[in-house]
Amino acid sequence: MPRKIEKLIKKEIQFPSLPAIAVEILDTVNKDDATLTQLGDLIALDPALSAKMLKIANSGIFSGAREISNLNRAMAILGTNTIRSIALSFVISSDLCSKRPGYNIEDFWKRSAISAVAAELIAKCVQHRDEDLFLTGLLQDLGVLTILLTKGDEYRILLDSYKDMQQDLKTLEQEKYGFDHQQVGNALLSSWNLPESITTPIRYHHCPNEAPSQYETSTRILDFANKLGELYTSNEDSQNVRIIQNEMAEQFDICPDDTLELIDQVAEKGRELIAMFDLDPSDIKPYTQLLQDANRQLEQLNLTNAQMILELQDAKKKVDRLVLKLQESNSRLRELVYQDALTGLYNHRYFQETLESEMARAKRYQASLSLVLFDIDNFKAVNDSFGHPAGDLVLMNIATAVKGAVRNSDVVARFGGDEFAIILPSTNAAGAKTFAENLRLAVEGIASLIDGQAISATVSLGVVTVLPSQASMSKSELIEIADNNLYQAKQQGRNRVTCSTVGS
Ligand code: GH3
Ligand code: MG
Repeated sequence: MPRKIEKLIKKEIQFPSLPAIAVEILDTVNKDDATLTQLGDLIALDPALSAKMLKIANSGIFSGAREISNLNRAMAILGTNTIRSIALSFVISSDLCSKRPGYNIEDFWKRSAISAVAAELIAKCVQHRDEDLFLTGLLQDLGVLTILLTKGDEYRILLDSYKDMQQDLKTLEQEKYGFDHQQVGNALLSSWNLPESITTPIRYHHCPNEAPSQYETSTRILDFANKLGELYTSNEDSQNVRIIQNEMAEQFDICPDDTLELIDQVAEKGRELIAMFDLDPSDIKPYTQLLQDANRQLEQLNLTNAQMILELQDAKKKVDRLVLKLQESNSRLRELVYQDALTGLYNHRYFQETLESEMARAKRYQASLSLVLFDIDNFKAVNDSFGHPAGDLVLMNIATAVKGAVRNSDVVARFGGDEFAIILPSTNAAGAKTFAENLRLAVEGIASLIDGQAISATVSLGVVTVLPSQASMSKSELIEIADNNLYQAKQQGRNRVTCSTVGS
């Protein structure tokens, strides 16, 4: 790293000191004549550390599935460098974990733990030998933590926003400070006397292409380990997994299925390590399990969707049924508004409205139109002699007879009291006269049985026919002529028909 940048970092950033026991571990391992026993003795001084070391030795991250029962055996199997790496991981992380930079430090170490495990497992998978990779993976972002400890809020804002800004963190750091967290990590770990095999890959972990060739593979592995750390600790999508699979295939010739298995394994072993760091591992789940969970949720969602659709269809059917009922009751209501309650014939109001529209139609089609008004003769006497209900029966029987005598297009209405009206569209004078005469005879023939006695009634009818030439005649004029004719029929002795024609 250029001296200028090194000086700038030292001027701007305060380095946390290395815990005493870590210094001792490093010193012991760096001695030429260091033995495993010496390192073991040193670690044994800290029982909590020894217990954790044994756990990790048995976790399968480093060794196979062998049972390792004591520290000496662990060191014999794993080797000095690995043991040193593990020891330093615990010592450094637990020391820095106690510092509270106003940032979620637990997430930071969880991500670091995942990266450490990932680095180790990837190295195993691609058969790359680097005993420091676990520690390198764990410490690769120590630069971030170090900048955070010095710069506080202003750097935290950068950390919180760079992804939303779709920017690269190291580029933003370079723009703001003139150095980035890779360089700070490198400077810090160098000042702690960690070997170049650790500090150099950290210096290039976001740009492995620029790493010196002897460290290139380790740096590439670190880059992937970092991506897996991100994958499990931030809301990355499955797109990123595909990218990792493609890059692993390209760079290390690892097939996508094996990469997926590796990604899952990283979570499983990562959880163990996180628990050893006394952090909560419950939010870290293997990627395939996350996918299955997501699919289950999706199915659930689809199910609720399907249920909602069914409920909607059900509701729609109900609404359709209601609309139908409403239409039925509306038309029933319409009928009631236009119906005479006693006889079931149309009422006076309907007659008035329909006569108007039928006259207009006759005018449009140049057709004749006839109107018949008829009234029961001496009806008062029926009521007087036999009672009102008997009169009602006579009214109803006459109504039924009229309904049976007309065509579908004719309109029969109760005009009021014992008076009725019939509109005969497209009917000329002769037709109207014949109709009226037949009706008169039909009524005459009706016998209404009252108290075992047959009562018959007659009607007088006034008929008027309007020819097309008189189409401009008004409705009330027409009714008046029919009424006059009815009056004439009454005058001339009742039970008869009087006709007249308007127009020529
Ligand atoms: P005319 O031959 O001159 O028509 O003699 P009329 O006795 O029939 O006289 P008018 O037509 O003036 O009398 C109609 C009678 O009809 C009067 C009323 O009591 C009776 N009436 C009207 N509406 C009803 C009804 O709904 N039921 C019954 N039972 N009688 C009714
Ligand atoms: Mg009458």
